[in-house]
Amino acid sequence: MVSRVIPVENFDLVIFGGTGDLARRKILPGLFRRYRSGQMPAEARIVGAARSALDHDAFRQMVAEAVAEFGGPEKDDAECLKAFLAQIHYVAVDAKGEGGWQALSGLMREGVVRAFYFSVAPSLFGDLAERLHRFNIATPDCRIVVEKPFGHDLATARALNATLATHFKETQIYRIDHYLGKETVQNLMAVRFGNILFEPLWNNHYVDHIQVTVAETVGVDGRGGYYDQSGAMRDMVQNHLMQLLCLIAMEPPSRFDADAVRDEKLKVIRALDPVAADEIVRGQYGSGGKAYRDDAENPASTTECFVAIKAHISNWRWAGVPFYLRTGKKMRARSSEIAVVFKDLGHSIFEGDTARHRNILAIRLQPNEGMDLQVTIKEPGPGGMRLVDVPLDMTFAEALGPDAGEVHDAYERLIMDVIRGNQTLFMRGDEVEAAWAWTDPIISGWDARGDRPRPYEAGSAGPEEAMMLMHRDGRRWREIKG
Ligand code: NAP
Repeated sequence: MVSRVIPVENFDLVIFGGTGDLARRKILPGLFRRYRSGQMPAEARIVGAARSALDHDAFRQMVAEAVAEFGGPEKDDAECLKAFLAQIHYVAVDAKGEGGWQALSGLMREGVVRAFYFSVAPSLFGDLAERLHRFNIATPDCRIVVEKPFGHDLATARALNATLATHFKETQIYRIDHYLGKETVQNLMAVRFGNILFEPLWNNHYVDHIQVTVAETVGVDGRGGYYDQSGAMRDMVQNHLMQLLCLIAMEPPSRFDADAVRDEKLKVIRALDPVAADEIVRGQYGSGGKAYRDDAENPASTTECFVAIKAHISNWRWAGVPFYLRTGKKMRARSSEIAVVFKDLGHSIFEGDTARHRNILAIRLQPNEGMDLQVTIKEPGPGGMRLVDVPLDMTFAEALGPDAGEVHDAYERLIMDVIRGNQTLFMRGDEVEAAWAWTDPIISGWDARGDRPRPYEAGSAGPEEAMMLMHRDGRRWREIKG
């Protein structure tokens, strides 16, 4: 299968925080791959901006090193890298100072899309926004891209939305959640709304429950300071898991466009019930190797690095269907999936068949992006009608041929969407606020009760209490497999 690359318009993209970790690991190597694929126009320009006193060449050297380290198989195309680097510029600016802004203004061209990636601490977003206007760099249709975390709670998210709204219209603001840029996540929408097969079953008549798992093997190495102020609830559930839940649960939008999709997602968040104290488990890895508290540099830290939640959506489609969400660090394997577990057959016509056979649609985000559908068939061979459950496996890279292996990294896909002006895969301000409005009482409930995280062994599937969350409902978590 040959992948179709549709070039985007010519653009100037300024990356504030161009020397930072995210720019080096994701943004710049991703842009190089889009350049090499022909999607980024040859004359498009990328401007790195940060306080460090670099000239264009020193920044280009840094970009070359980032591509060498994180550029994937394409990194060895030296000719292409040389051409790409020629499109890279640098200007030293301080988000809180006055220097460098005139120079940045002078670099910007008329008649091309203007985008500003705020890859800096959120505390600088307001300063950047204000200076982009004061120095006449912002145009009425320029775009800004803002990184997570978008607020620490509802009050700070509201304040951040208000600050950005002073300078930019909502149609100019692209709040990134890179989970929405993952191929499989978009495929979830294609599968739901592009097939007649699933949608009739996608409700409480046929679905028993839904599981969303995002398991990481890494700890918080090197990010202990940030993470300890955040925790899994803020860092993962409020944004990434919430977005996945929305895409599974939302009503079909009337069109595949930004506001139609985001309106439906918002309705899901608003229909979420408050979570009862016994329907949530927090955990902290504490044995079987280094403990979280060593990573967090705070021997008394009570920040959770694991959360499991039983969530309920109060609407006609989902009443009575639990959504079990879990995410954690230092888990058994790096594995993320959404599993739609359908109900048992009411009655089996096959004599002696006492097993519970269930259809399960599993959508894998990592590793091996793809889907499998568990179906029940006859076990081959003699011996009568014995039933067995088998997965109909569709790993994209296998099913769609080698070009599907060029599954774009989420960041590069999303940046191209910014240039196209397509906000479908970005969070709207009201969505983010609604997600915090659901999350805040969970966190304040823990604080009020003095809840301490349950310990779990590094390399396990999380605390015992998380298993019990499902066992007591007669259900089981799916195995975490790498
Ligand atoms: P980082 O490595 O600490 O980089 C911060 C960048 O901001 C550097 O380029 C720094 O360069 C620049 N900077 C700092 N103060 C500045 C100022 N006053 N004016 C202008 N530039 C300034 O941070 P990061 O990990 O790249 O993260 C950037 C943003 O992405 C954060 O909001 C973070 O939460 C978010 N994020 C990061 C990741 C990740 O994997 N790293 C993942 C998700 C979200 P100078 O020191 O030269 O100024």
